[in-house]
Amino acid sequence: MTIIRDTGTEAERIKRKQTARLAEIKRDAPKRLKMFERVFAGAASASQERKAFCFECQGLDAQGVRECVAYACPHWRKRPYQRK
Ligand code: SF4
Repeated sequence: MTIIRDTGTEAERIKRKQTARLAEIKRDAPKRLKMFERVFAGAASASQERKAFCFECQGLDAQGVRECVAYACPHWRKRPYQRK
């Protein structure tokens, strides 16, 4: 087994991780790409950040966010995609 160390400065490692994540989002949930780009750029609102957080939590699945039953999660009450 080969262990590959993630090298470079912290900023470089962050950039690589976020770039890789954006490529996955572009492939799996392209409609969410702009939102994640804003979040990673530090240009998102608090509600956009919460929305992105919930998407990450539920594997980019809006239905999963809507049906989330993690009542003790700090985001639960204001999570996106709730039925009115
Ligand atoms: S509210 Fe649910 S979907 Fe959102 S972060 Fe919490 S556990 Fe995840």
